Amino acid sequence: MDNQNNKNNPNNNRQGWGIILITTLLVAFMVMGFYSLMRGSGPEEISYDKFLNMVDDKKVAEVSLSSNRIYITLTDEARKEEVQDNSSAPNMINQFWSQTGSGESSPDYYTAYVSDDTLVERLYESGAEFKGEVPDTMGQMFFELFVTLILPVGLMAILLSYFIRKMSKGGGVMSIGKSNAKMYMEKETGVTFQDVAGEDEAKESLQEVVDFLHNPGRYSGIGAKLPKGALLVGPPGTGKTLLAKAVAGEAKVPFFSLSGSAFVEMYVGVGASRVRDLFKQAQQQAPCIVFIDEIDAIGKTRDTVMGGNDEREQTLNQLLAEMDGFDTNKGLLILAATNRPEILDPALLRPGRFDRRIIVDKPDLKGRIDILKVHAKDVRMDESVDLEAIALATSGAVGSDLANMINEAAINAVKHGRQVVSQKDLFEAVEVVLVGKEKKDRIMSKEERRIVSYHEVGHALVTALQKNTEPVQKITIVPRTMGALGYVMQTPEEEKFLNTKKELEAMIVVALGGRAAEELVFDTVTTGAANDIEQATKIARSMITQYGMSERFGLMGLESIQNRYLDGRAVLNCGDATAGEIDEEVMKMLKSAYAEAKRLLGENRETLDKIADFLIEKETITGKEFMKIFREVKGLPDPEEDTLERVEEREGRIAMKPVKGAAQ
Ligand code: ADP
Repeated sequence: MDNQNNKNNPNNNRQGWGIILITTLLVAFMVMGFYSLMRGSGPEEISYDKFLNMVDDKKVAEVSLSSNRIYITLTDEARKEEVQDNSSAPNMINQFWSQTGSGESSPDYYTAYVSDDTLVERLYESGAEFKGEVPDTMGQMFFELFVTLILPVGLMAILLSYFIRKMSKGGGVMSIGKSNAKMYMEKETGVTFQDVAGEDEAKESLQEVVDFLHNPGRYSGIGAKLPKGALLVGPPGTGKTLLAKAVAGEAKVPFFSLSGSAFVEMYVGVGASRVRDLFKQAQQQAPCIVFIDEIDAIGKTRDTVMGGNDEREQTLNQLLAEMDGFDTNKGLLILAATNRPEILDPALLRPGRFDRRIIVDKPDLKGRIDILKVHAKDVRMDESVDLEAIALATSGAVGSDLANMINEAAINAVKHGRQVVSQKDLFEAVEVVLVGKEKKDRIMSKEERRIVSYHEVGHALVTALQKNTEPVQKITIVPRTMGALGYVMQTPEEEKFLNTKKELEAMIVVALGGRAAEELVFDTVTTGAANDIEQATKIARSMITQYGMSERFGLMGLESIQNRYLDGRAVLNCGDATAGEIDEEVMKMLKSAYAEAKRLLGENRETLDKIADFLIEKETITGKEFMKIFREVKGLPDPEEDTLERVEEREGRIAMKPVKGAAQ
């Protein structure tokens, strides 16, 4: 499946090192053994005067004179004598060979050549045979050179080349220019369009691409140019990678994937060579899909204003060149994903390169239901589970959040010793993913609990008192791991795509309701409202600068959104003087909203106290309990249509949008 299976396998590396170690040891032993054999089997050295004595005693049968040595062969008698005298006979191996061998005896001793004029005369007298040797210096030299230099160096070279090959396969230092550093290849992804839920438009656009991969000939036959690449654009976690895999799965072609950042290295030119290598490999495997995730890492606009990045630009140029160069008729398709399309170089987006832009946005209600269904398929659920309610409560969540929630719910069920997942598990999972786990070990002082309680009830009460806001579903003062000391959950009755001016104004009042309650009851304020203030300011500012909802500026567009798929930060498009005026306007709007929140709570102080007391006691109260006290204090009748079914339905629909309370 993964052609890089052996690339980072530590076992392989260990094996490689083992082989190298064993071979080195073997070579060392061989060389040493050879030397010792050579030494042990040769004649023994004696002193020159001992040699002369032997000659005089007529013990020498034969003498061979070489350029720097004199080799001595003893007579048979002398040899026997030697054996008797000295149990460690000089050259037993040699004698053995000389007796069993060709019959020609090898020398027993040797001595260094000494310039001695009397030697020849002495040898004559003793009757020993003697001969001079034409020195074979070349042969010997070559032999010595072979043993001491060529053999070890040759072996080392073989070892080294083996080692380098191993390293380059393993993606180590030697493979700098190879794209296989972080590239994965799947022969079959096993993912189909059925596994991707809720992205119908994207799937529709990609269906065409699948058809082309299936049957490139049909398109090229009538002269149609085939697409080279498609860019998947959308926020993180919406299923871009999944879609790319599904295209490969549907077309039944191999899937190469790597991240844009894998190209960029500190060495200039490496990225470019990786791009070349990638295209070479992909073309060999065509038809196939190459998926480059986070393409913005290399595809950023090549501007030099901020000082260009040579390496990245070279890599991008290479990518552009390769995209122009390859032959689409083979069925090679490049898919890339990004969540920052606005920073991509225009050259990358022109026709003939990534000319198709496929938006993979956050799923709507139906999309979320479908995604939940896809992931719930393999999880055992009981009949209480209503995925629609979960989808309604999770507006703004992306596919990966929803997949995560289902998994959390399953883990939760196991933790409680159950075999199936219930609706309660799912809701708990929603809360865990959105606001973190309950932080039961955080002990708040009595006073703090009172403040948090009033703060949260302040939000909830303002919500209930304003007609234009969503009904409250749950209020809690159990701290969460993501920082909230308490929060209020609201239920949207249906998914909304538009907000009226009135609704937005009401939202600001709700956001400031917590701080208003604090001031009203304790006559002081705390740090807990930081989050609310941020949220309220953001809404007010957007109303003025983006939605044309202020009288002062009318329909003037004063801000534009950057990084729409990430944090959606707004950038001012106006002069400094206007910016100052905007700030004044925002301030005015917030002040009047705060005054409104204080007025609402002041007029309903009794309700505020009652519900806050109840919350301090219970820690978590439901929307139903809240409304009961609310109606009691206000003397309102219980709505007779509050049937069990309705309550259940309402209970189920807890909104994910927590009106953050005393956070931090
Ligand atoms: P992206 O590449 O957009 O950041 P991924 O494709 O990596 O997101 O998605 C992460 C995971 O989230 C997927 O493996 C899948 O389990 C889940 N997921 C995301 N979107 C969907 C979807 N539309 N349908 C089903 N599962 C999804």
